[in-house]
Amino acid sequence: MRRMAHDPITAATVQDAPHLEPHFAFPAAEAAATEKLNARAARPNVAMIVFDDVGWGDFGCYGGGVAVGAPTPNIDRLAREGKLLTSCYSEPSCTPSRASLMTGRLPMRHGLMRPPMYGEAGGLQGEITIAQLLSDAGYVTQAVGKWHMGENRESQPQNVGFDDFYGFLSVSDMYTEWRDPYFFPEIVYSEERTRWIENQAFSKCFVHAEKGGEIEEVEEVTIPVLSLLDDMWCKYSQAFIERMAGIDQPWFLYHCTRGTHFDNYPHPDFLGKSPAKHPYKDTIVELDDIVGRLIQTLEDTGQLDDTIVFITSDNGPEMETWPDSAYSPFRSAKGSTWEGGQRVPGVVYWRGMVEPGQATDGIFSLLDWFPTLLRVAGATDATPDDRYIDGVDQTSFLLGDGAQSNRKYLYYWLGTTFSAVRCGEYKMMLASTSDDDRDIQNSGGFSGVTQKYTYSRLYNLYLDPKEQHSYMIRKIPYLDAFTAGLGQHFRSFGKYPAKSVVGGVG
Ligand code: CA
Repeated sequence: MRRMAHDPITAATVQDAPHLEPHFAFPAAEAAATEKLNARAARPNVAMIVFDDVGWGDFGCYGGGVAVGAPTPNIDRLAREGKLLTSCYSEPSCTPSRASLMTGRLPMRHGLMRPPMYGEAGGLQGEITIAQLLSDAGYVTQAVGKWHMGENRESQPQNVGFDDFYGFLSVSDMYTEWRDPYFFPEIVYSEERTRWIENQAFSKCFVHAEKGGEIEEVEEVTIPVLSLLDDMWCKYSQAFIERMAGIDQPWFLYHCTRGTHFDNYPHPDFLGKSPAKHPYKDTIVELDDIVGRLIQTLEDTGQLDDTIVFITSDNGPEMETWPDSAYSPFRSAKGSTWEGGQRVPGVVYWRGMVEPGQATDGIFSLLDWFPTLLRVAGATDATPDDRYIDGVDQTSFLLGDGAQSNRKYLYYWLGTTFSAVRCGEYKMMLASTSDDDRDIQNSGGFSGVTQKYTYSRLYNLYLDPKEQHSYMIRKIPYLDAFTAGLGQHFRSFGKYPAKSVVGGVG
């Protein structure tokens, strides 16, 4: 008899406990992954490199690179020698994504539905982060670069699990946009308004902090300083990696770049260096070079074989700031639950452990790192049991040769409005941002209105990656594939109610 293939639409999941997301179980792949991990002398280091607003298609390994005027040879090489995820998902915008990565929980559970801006209150306080749990398990934890998960004391990185932080607490544009006469002439050329904004209670400096300590201001982020940040932050991470080579503890580096969030002012060494000669593209080239430098430091210090490297973006391209914006072949952009808002690059590289040369379309969410990192750190028992964890352990998917994703459903939330669910190549949509041709380009994901469909829509993401042709009337039998997943998801909020910290409006 022919062995039946695993089909994510028809296969059943298992749920290990009421507070854990159901997942596909592959006993043989699980055993192989465990054997691979147990064969190692020590637990691995983790280097997570999170770009800001970089599009799914920007890198050469995703079809961009040279084709869109910004070659990315370093990232392309890691993708060739590692695993390239084509269905890697963030949340629709920065803070929700980063907090989901940190907590393994959807925005409706950690409560950060949109980014806090210009000193707004609210952040990660009360959540349990992967950094905290890895720290408890004996890891040295370092955060570098953009934070943007709350500026309040209890939400700052040194108070939610990181031993050290060097970066800024908010988001790039907030430090410089009002200083640039091109964007804000009415402020720059007005003494009254300049004083007015300078006196507003939001941070204007990048900072340093050590575990449990107070934030120290390092330098005010003027435009010339901003252009040097990614280079400075790279050097800080390189120094951390070099220091760790002499320490008998595993480590977790959470390196978040400034680029390519608008507005981009590339480092002087990279200004005009991309074939496109555009600041956004120059910044992509600079970020690729930074990836090369970090990898080289791991190699030079003998730690490359012992380190899981992951490269991603926190959301899709920001199209409201075109042409300072990214490339994605999908519909719409950052802020939306169309694929353009949430489908992000995902390159997993671990020499000797992740099989080289694999591109896979298995569904992977940034949520999944929480249980996956606990697993590789041997700390699964530390998983909180007083709250719902939306991530699933993807260790067997990442370490297996041709292995399948452990995730069956991907749930899309537009603020507090449930938007869609994906299973296999199908995505059923109940609500979205404006259904207008313009949401593909300018005006982008943040500008649209939330619309709920009278009847749900169904998109086949293989035939229709731009989500332009609802297939529902033709494909009604597929409803069955989604009913169980939707029911399970909505019921989970009964025992584990939603939380609202920032942005409670759908
Ligand atoms: Ca972002």
